[in-house]
Amino acid sequence: MSIAQVQEEFVVAFDVLVLGGGPAAISFVKTMGSTKNTAVIRPEDHSMIYCAMPYAIEGLLPMGKTFKKDELVTDTGAVLVRDTVTKVDLNARVVETAGGTQYGYERLVIATGARPVMPPLPGADLAGVYTFKTEDEMRAIQSVVDAGIEKAVVVGAGPIGVELAQAFNAKGIETHIVDIAARILPNILDAELVDDPQEQLAEHGIRLHLGHGVSSLRGESFVEDVVLSDGSVIRFGDDVDCEVEACPGKQRGIVVFSVGVRPNTELFAGTSLSLDKQGIVINDRFETSVPGVYAIGDCASFKSGITGETLPGKLATNAVPMGKILGRIFTGKPASYAGFYNGSATKVGAWFVGGTGFTEEQAKARFPVKVGHADLTTTFPIMPMARRIRLKLVMNAETGLLVGGQVVSGEPVADKVDQLTMAIQYGISVEKLVDFSYASQPYQSYYPADNLIVHAARDALR
Ligand SMILES: Cc1cc2nc3c(=O)[nH]c(=O)nc-3n(C[C@H](O)[C@H](O)[C@H](O)COP(=O)(O)OP(=O)(O)OC[C@H]3O[C@@H](n4cnc5c(N)ncnc54)[C@H](O)[C@@H]3O)c2cc1C
Repeated sequence: MSIAQVQEEFVVAFDVLVLGGGPAAISFVKTMGSTKNTAVIRPEDHSMIYCAMPYAIEGLLPMGKTFKKDELVTDTGAVLVRDTVTKVDLNARVVETAGGTQYGYERLVIATGARPVMPPLPGADLAGVYTFKTEDEMRAIQSVVDAGIEKAVVVGAGPIGVELAQAFNAKGIETHIVDIAARILPNILDAELVDDPQEQLAEHGIRLHLGHGVSSLRGESFVEDVVLSDGSVIRFGDDVDCEVEACPGKQRGIVVFSVGVRPNTELFAGTSLSLDKQGIVINDRFETSVPGVYAIGDCASFKSGITGETLPGKLATNAVPMGKILGRIFTGKPASYAGFYNGSATKVGAWFVGGTGFTEEQAKARFPVKVGHADLTTTFPIMPMARRIRLKLVMNAETGLLVGGQVVSGEPVADKVDQLTMAIQYGISVEKLVDFSYASQPYQSYYPADNLIVHAARDALR
């Protein structure tokens, strides 16, 4: 039977069927526009603005503000289906959903994303232990915060963990961060740049347990103790008025794991789709090993734009360009994906932090490295609002090319991180950055005599 004959038997067949409703899928359909007979299948009531979720827990914005509007998809003319795909037949080009419907397609775009890893620790199944990605998890965490828990342990000191810990702390909850790494934000900042933000967390009362993992969780029904690999224990029961036995069923604390993600690819196990540890294997046009099947975003295994290695890079800022480029490809434009750079930013207390490409530590594992630093002010230093800003460049000493950068500042840094990503992405050498032509104004930069990127470039070449 031909594909067309098989598909005739199904209720609906689409030219383009998209699995997933995250940033990759939305960027794809928006870029492609209404030129195709397209459907998007996603299980959630709402597509989420994940990046804003910690700030909803903090109470800075109502939870509803973290929901994206369905019109982002439906205004393109695409059909939005609320369901979960449970089976795929890549030969017949049909998928089946939990709701029992079968959908045929000409081309399938897989954008099923990734989910947080929950390590298989003793006690990980106790009540009060969470990961943090879905609307349901956000609501559950919000409700225990509102119920007045006294302690929170966030496992993982990456940006999501640090943002969530600050949210708990701002709610008056005694907050602990645990990470096996020796410092916070280890994939963004090298050791010499981390002191200001890390000290600020401690100043705000957040207790840091760095250099130790969690080895187990203990409790009866709710989690009561978090046991660390050095043998120390964070107890939830100590500071409350009742003994554990006297108050069965009382939740005193919360543990949230934010220790990385795993691609959602189980659906394709046993199919002819090539998978590796990072997800669905794709080429630079997002084509998978199966003709007519494409993968974008966190579910795809994609390459670093710097070295061409397959590396983890599960960020919205990587997923969105993938969706946009595939959208252009589907409208017949010549486009291909050069890889990801991992430009990212976060906020720690009053410090804005960002990084792109490789840290010095990561780069040194690959090639000889030189680094340059700048330590200036966000405005002319004579201005009353001047704040410290530090920038670091990481250079491949063999090629002279920029491979990474980091910024810690009293003012937002995303634009600086983007300038560095642009230099990395378009192969601008550090030597060229020395002559970078910049702007200067008392409110907005250091004196005309110097510039952060130029200063750090000169330092790297000294
Ligand atoms: C709390 C938090 C904060 C973050 N902050 C940032 C940030 O500041 N900056 C940044 O760049 N990134 C951030 N990220 C990461 C970013 O959200 C992800 O990289 C991004 O969402 C990946 O997009 P995606 O579309 O590939 O996958 P996802 O957003 O994971 O979307 C996948 C979609 O596929 C659906 N799906 C899965 N399986 C099926 C199935 N079988 N059938 C149908 N649909 C299915 C899912 O339900 C979902 O709709 C954050 C993540 C979290 C959790």
